[in-house]
Parts: sequence; C-alpha cells; structure tokens
Amino acid sequence: MIIAERFFHNGGWVEIFVLSFYSGFLAYKMSNQKNTAKWRMYSWLLFSIVFYGQLTLGLLGFEKFLLTGSLHVPVPAIILAGPIYRFEFAIMPILFLSTIILSGPSWCSHLCYFGGIDNVFSNSKKYPIQIPIKNKIKWKYSFLAIIIAFTILLRIVNIPPIYAAGAGIALGIIGLLIMAILSSKRKKMIHCTVFCPIGTLVMYLKFINPFRIKINSSCTSCMLCAKHCKYDALNKEDIESGKPGLTCTYCGDCITTCKFSSIEYKFPGLTAINSRLLYIIITVSLHATFLGLGMI
Ligand code: SF4
Ligand code: SF4
Ligand code: SF4
Repeated sequence: MIIAERFFHNGGWVEIFVLSFYSGFLAYKMSNQKNTAKWRMYSWLLFSIVFYGQLTLGLLGFEKFLLTGSLHVPVPAIILAGPIYRFEFAIMPILFLSTIILSGPSWCSHLCYFGGIDNVFSNSKKYPIQIPIKNKIKWKYSFLAIIIAFTILLRIVNIPPIYAAGAGIALGIIGLLIMAILSSKRKKMIHCTVFCPIGTLVMYLKFINPFRIKINSSCTSCMLCAKHCKYDALNKEDIESGKPGLTCTYCGDCITTCKFSSIEYKFPGLTAINSRLLYIIITVSLHATFLGLGMI
C-alpha cells in the first residue's frame, strides 16, 4: 500500500523513514500548546493537498498513485453513502472506523480530506467575529436522514453508478458552497458542524474511544474558549455542564486559549498533560501513515 514501494525497490522503507521523521517533527511542534492550532491547520491542509494531488494524478492516468490502481471518485459522504448504495463494506469505512477506535473524532479535526477545506474557510479574515449556530443538532439529524433516504432510493431504483457518483459530486459542490458562503461569514465550520452526515455519526461514534475533553472546576466561565471553537461546542450550557457539546472533535484549539488551564484532555489513568500528548502522538501517527498510502 505504501506509494514509494510502487516506484522503486525498498522505496517503502525510505518513505517510512521520512514519514517517521516528519511525524516526530509534527508531534514535537504540536506538543507546544501555543502552536497546536497553527500546526493542526498546516498538517490538515497538507493532507488535503496530498489527497487531491493523488486524485488529480489518478485522473491524468498515473494509476500508481491510486489505492487499488483504479479510480474511485472520492465524494463527501462516501463513507456513509458508499456502503449503503453498493451494499458492501469497503476500505474507506474501515479506515474511518479504525481512526475512531484509536483516536475518537480526530477524523473530523485532523484527517478528513474535505474538512481541512472547511477549516481554512472558517479562518476567513474578511469577517470579524464568530457567530454561534442555532438548532445545529436538528439540522444535523435532518441532513443525515435526507442523505440516507436518498441513497436508499438510489439503491432501490438501481440507479447506474455513474449517476450515483454524479449525485455525490453534486453533494460535494453544495458542501463547498456552504463553506465558501457560510463558514467564512460565520467563522465557524458550518459544513462540518451542521451539514456533513459523517460528522453527525462521529458525534456519537467517538464515545467508543476512551479520550474525552473536560472542563474542570477552575473554570471562571469567561467564555474566551467559546470564541475559538469552530465546531460550536462551547456554548454557555456546555461550559456549565463541565464538558463540550456533542459537536466537539477534540481539536484542542480551546485548550490553547484558556488562561486558567480549565479545559483539558482526559484518558483513564493519565494526567491531563500526558493525555493530551498521547492524543497528539496517536493522531499525528495516523496522519503520517495515511499520507504515505495511496488514499483514493
Ligand atoms: S464533518 Fe464531514 S467533511 Fe467535516 S471533517 Fe468530518 S467527515 Fe470531513
Ligand atoms: S474553560 Fe477557560 S476559557 Fe473557557 S470559560 Fe472556562 S476559564 Fe474561560
Ligand atoms: S470544544 Fe475545544 S476541542 Fe472541542 S471542538 Fe471546540 S475547540 Fe475543539
């Protein structure tokens, strides 16, 4: 599966060495709390660039860059819609579930090729303040139900794969428009927090992993962290309840902003600092591993 091995003998070992060095460097940079948000954005963007670079090369006929040697059009929601439409459990859902087991919701804060774009749009400098999202959970359930029902319909009427792929691409274009228009204006990741059905699944699936984010008793309810949560998971009620809302993806941006060290990672048996470092090491390792593979 390692791409360099396809080009020259033992290339895989060279790639593993380079990626090990890169992941050590990235984990070191992210371990400094002040830099975590910045390096998370850089590395997530790099992931998207490599992914879409592979897609472009695949479209141009360079098949060695593709996972199986043939092109699978990568569309948002394919992790959910793909298995429903094809009635089979393919590689993408397996990769996705592996990340949930190992590091909870990191797919939606560090690893997804589409979410990195929403992250960039939500950083727009054009608009000054973040605007909270009303009724986001209701919107999330509605979009999830619509997409599942639509995919089942495609399956029942046996729509040819080319049209199903077209529907997926249309969904991706709608997603990009949401990012460009709403995420940039509100400085929140509206696509990921409201629209994407995979994000809605992650909202619950993440609890099969033991990592958590908690707010401890030193919190003064200053609400500074809420201004830095692009997933809208730190409203007043969330902070009062001692934990972020369901849409939290453990991105860690809020931890950098709290002056009282009141918000922290938790892992059974570990201190908050070590829990955070463990989370970074696992997530960065997954990121580097995926970078080395043919992903499409
Ligand atoms: S919410 Fe959807 S688009 Fe956003 S990061 Fe998660 S899977 Fe990707
Ligand atoms: S967690 Fe920190 S930044 Fe957030 S409200 Fe509490 S004290 Fe303020
Ligand atoms: S609550 Fe903190 S860790 Fe969770 S999504 Fe918001 S900023 Fe990220």
